[in-house]
This record gives sequence, structure tokens and C-alpha cells, in this order.
Amino acid sequence: MGYPRVVIEKNKIKQNVNAVLNLIGDRDISLAAVTKGFCANPQVAEVFVDAGVDYLADSRIENLRKLKDLKIKKMMLRLPMISEVDELVKYADISLNSEIETIKALNKASERLGRVHEIILMVDLGDLREGYYKEEDLLSAVKEILDLAFIKIKGLGVNLTCYGGVIPKAHILNRLLDLKNKVEEVYNIKLDIISGGNSSTVYLLNKDLPNEINNLRLGEAVILGRESAYQQNIEGTDQNPFTLEAEIIEVKEKPSVPTEEIGRDAFGQKPTFVDRGVRKRILCAVGKQDIDLETLFPVDKDLIILGGSSDHLIIDGSDSPKDYKVGDILAFHMEYVSMLRIMTSEYIEKHVI
Ligand SMILES: *Cc1c(COP(=O)(O)O)cnc(C)c1O
Repeated sequence: MGYPRVVIEKNKIKQNVNAVLNLIGDRDISLAAVTKGFCANPQVAEVFVDAGVDYLADSRIENLRKLKDLKIKKMMLRLPMISEVDELVKYADISLNSEIETIKALNKASERLGRVHEIILMVDLGDLREGYYKEEDLLSAVKEILDLAFIKIKGLGVNLTCYGGVIPKAHILNRLLDLKNKVEEVYNIKLDIISGGNSSTVYLLNKDLPNEINNLRLGEAVILGRESAYQQNIEGTDQNPFTLEAEIIEVKEKPSVPTEEIGRDAFGQKPTFVDRGVRKRILCAVGKQDIDLETLFPVDKDLIILGGSSDHLIIDGSDSPKDYKVGDILAFHMEYVSMLRIMTSEYIEKHVI
């Protein structure tokens, strides 16, 4: 087994998704488990399927394609590119959309494949990423879509706390319900799905989530057991299903601050230093190409991450009682961004247990 590697514990993922399913309880809310945080590794995604989620959801077709053998509905989260509609209708049963030109292209692609493709229309309630911002634009899009034979409008959705950082509140989600009622009234149709957001909506399950919200698309909550409005751990979850293991390639005593004139580092930034005197410095063979320094944490709490370059991680080991040597393995826990990078990096071995 080579290093660096990431060890993924399926029993912890199972614990987390089950805790979220318990939190949802007997409410009428379908769960789309989001797999993009771990690049849709099928062994991990299968844990969600076995736990009884309703959809697997991802933002990339390459990922949905990896999941094609799992018997469950697939949802495409990111607005499709017109250039990928044929692949999209093949690997996704339902997608989130906000552009009529794309929806028309999806209609043609579904016709070619002899299928009906389902869509959820996204509404922008202030986070300023995707979705219809104006009610009249939404209504006129619905009118055009109703003429498309191979597209079925399943419902409306919203995404918050992604670009604008807007935290979901009942009064914001009620606007989604108003729009749903309006669409149903004006066109005399029934919308089945009202998709109330991502892991930042989870905290409302214990508060005043409007009853009519009947779908959530959750990644961070079901993977790492964390809601993302206030970064709280969800009861009964484990934050560390992923552990990075990296090998030590150098251990030496060095000063904490360079002694010569300082220019730019490998990433063009002006470096800053804390002068702690001469310290034991540990180099590991993993770098910014594979990890995010802000969201990676040594399991040995006495180690301090000082920085890194593309292929090196630099650690201060002076405060640890352990006598680390070249060839030893250091373990790290992580938050979402490091998980995403680690799973994306082809240089890190993936070990699912
Ligand atoms: C990534 C994504 C999600 C899941 O986000 P989490 O915060 O991980 O729950 C939900 N919906 C959309 C549209 C996404 O892009």
C-alpha cells in the first residue's frame, strides 16, 4: 500500500447518514445524498443506497457515470452545460435547471434517447448563485417547458449559503412555497418536489422548517455529520470518516524564520512567520496539490502545520513528546475542502474499509 493514502471508514459514513435520516424522522422529506465531496467513490456511495436514501446527487457527469451500476435515481446538481446534454440524460434521471435554452437541448437529447427527463427549476432567493431571480421569468419559463414533450417539471428548488452565505430561514423558504403555489395556480399543474437546500438547511429540522419542503440535498451533513449554517456537529455523528496518512521524508532542527531577504513563496504569496526559535521541523510527502492547509488537522494535537508547497507539508514537531523519524506515517483529520482535494488528487491512494 502506497503513501500518501486516505483511509475511508464506511461504518462512520453509515453512522452519519443514519443520524441524518433519524433527524428527518417520519417527516415527508426525500433525501438526495450528495457524493461530490468524495468524487462519487462507488464503494462509499453504496453506503448511502443501503441506508435507504432516495437519490444520489452529484455536480459532475463524470461522477454520476461512476454510479451508474447503483440501482437508485441520480440527480445532477450543477446546471448542465448544453454541450453535455446527451450524457446528462443518460446518467441522470433528474437535474436542476434555470435556462430555457439548456432545457430545450435536454428535451431533444431525451427524445433521442427515448426517455422523459425530469427537472427541478432553481429559484434564487438571494444567495446570488443559480436560479430564476424574477417571478415573471420563472413563470414564462414554465409556460415554454410545458410544451416540451420529453421534459417533466417535477418541482422547484433553492440553494443557499454557497456564494452569498445567506442562511436559510423559514421566511425565505416560504417565498419558495409562494412561487410553487403561483406556478400551480397559473398553469393548473401539480409540483411534486420542493427542494429546500443543502446542509445549511439541516438546522431548521429542529426549528421551523416549513412543512411543504419535501426534499433536501445533503452532502456535508451525511458525509461529515455537520450542518453548514452554523457549523454544528449533528447529534450521533462522527466527524472523521476520512483520515489522511502521509509519510515523513525529513526531520531536522531549523530556525523558524529565514535569515535572508524574503521574496515570494512557491505560490507567489509573501510569506509570514512566527519566530519560535530553533524548532524540530518535519517534512511530509504531500502538498497543496492534494490538500487544503486550512482544513487539515494532525491527529497528534501537539503538531503544528506551518505551511507547505505543491508537494511538501511542513510541520513543527517540537511540542510533541513523540520522537518522529524519517519513514514514519503521520495521520490527519479534515474538513470538507481537504476531503474534496484529497479525493480528487490522483496522487493519493484511496483505501475504503
Ligand atoms: C453541493 C450541493 C449540495 C450539497 O451541499 P452540502 O453543503 O454539502 O450539503 C446541494 N445542492 C447543490 C445545488 C449543490 O451544488
